[in-house]
Amino acid sequence: MNKTIEKIVSLCKQRGFVYQSSDIYGGFGAVYDYGPLGVELKNNIANYWWKEMTRNHENIVGLDSGILMHPKIWEASGHIGEFHDPLVDCKQCKSRYRADELTENLENEEWDKFKCPKCGTTGKMTPPRQFNLMFKTEVGALEDSGSTAYLRPETAQGIYVNYKLVQGSTRMKIPFGIAQIGKAFRNEIIARNFIFRTREFEQMEMQYFTKPGDDDKAMEEWKEKRIKFYTNILGVASENLRFHKHEKNELAHYAKEAWDIEYNFPFGWSEVEGIHNRTDFDLKNHENHSGKNLKYFDQENNERYLPYIIETSAGLNRMLLTVLADSYWEDTENSRIVMKLDPKIAPIKAVVCPLVKKDGLPEKARLIVDTLKPHFNVLYDQQGSIGKRYYRQDEAGTPYGVTIDHQTMDDGTVTIRYRDTQKQDRASLENVLNIIQSSLL
Ligand code: ATP
Repeated sequence: MNKTIEKIVSLCKQRGFVYQSSDIYGGFGAVYDYGPLGVELKNNIANYWWKEMTRNHENIVGLDSGILMHPKIWEASGHIGEFHDPLVDCKQCKSRYRADELTENLENEEWDKFKCPKCGTTGKMTPPRQFNLMFKTEVGALEDSGSTAYLRPETAQGIYVNYKLVQGSTRMKIPFGIAQIGKAFRNEIIARNFIFRTREFEQMEMQYFTKPGDDDKAMEEWKEKRIKFYTNILGVASENLRFHKHEKNELAHYAKEAWDIEYNFPFGWSEVEGIHNRTDFDLKNHENHSGKNLKYFDQENNERYLPYIIETSAGLNRMLLTVLADSYWEDTENSRIVMKLDPKIAPIKAVVCPLVKKDGLPEKARLIVDTLKPHFNVLYDQQGSIGKRYYRQDEAGTPYGVTIDHQTMDDGTVTIRYRDTQKQDRASLENVLNIIQSSLL
């Protein structure tokens, strides 16, 4: 099977997972909208992440900070000074590239002898130039330099500047973590590969505050926990996942050690999540810029210190692309496309179909929908042949079909159909409920 990004994009549009932004105006660069199935899938992924972080860890709590924050935060964090990509342009064909993606030898590359990967012209490449990736905006009525604010390029800083307040309200002892899900914005110059790199996206970040010296152990723990999330919760095939360690020259300005979880996308292995040891870089800088003491007081040992921070930083949209790519399956034997989404995250858990549109079957099917819908998302469908209805839901990733026929009217049993195998069993409604519910745990 030739799994291409184009096929996934097309299915996403057709079925209502993801649309390009502002479609009727011809689109808007590197922004995407999530349709009826996409928003359910995105919410499910985010909810499982949230549950995994907060409910499953007594020492991790949540936060929801603003997108707009005091502009000094971005000076302190280094984003105003450092947050940019080096770009090169081909003067011949006008293509633009991230210089670090064209060469591993950024510093010493001879750009005037470089061959453009697109048009093949040599000697037309500009030297790298830096572009700041933060979106600027004006706050208040007056447009002067004092009114400039930024749309946050990461959610992490909102956690750092609130960490003392959170610790004060919860009395948590180190090690503890703060989790947040929210929008982030980066004016990416090169946006490609569908929702992989966009200008507006969502991050799911957890910042884990440790005692300096315990940071390496925490890094190991979080690497293991995070990769398991992809296989055990999202159902991603483990052979399509790997770790990539950042070498010294790849490390971000704040990091002591960094690992990426990479997925084998149709366009190659690429980062989905970063796990970084940010040391006390951010808290130290916020102390300096705000003049506030951000040290943690360890009562037991009567000592004060700035914690080290291990961050797990995932893009919700990239995670969604990961599960879409991983679950896309062309079942050539049966001429159908199936999104083999794990039932836990599938947008719709079951389609409920009356076999025919008469003899009281639709009414009965509606009653069954009413029984199931308090438990999970179900869809009622009476449109078209039963086979067509099933195939439509295979493309939507719906793991179960529940069909109501004449026998249902006699003994209350229904047919349950399994998406991947197309196997069908006769079962009581209670059994169906149990089967579906147990697949969601
Ligand atoms: P990249 O090298 O791909 O630009 P990054 O190393 O800058 O990513 P981080 O700053 O570590 O990424 O952000 C953490 C996570 O946020 C990434 O692993 C990714 O999942 C997500 N992310 C970052 N930038 C984007 C973007 N422009 N669009 C979608 N997701 C993004």
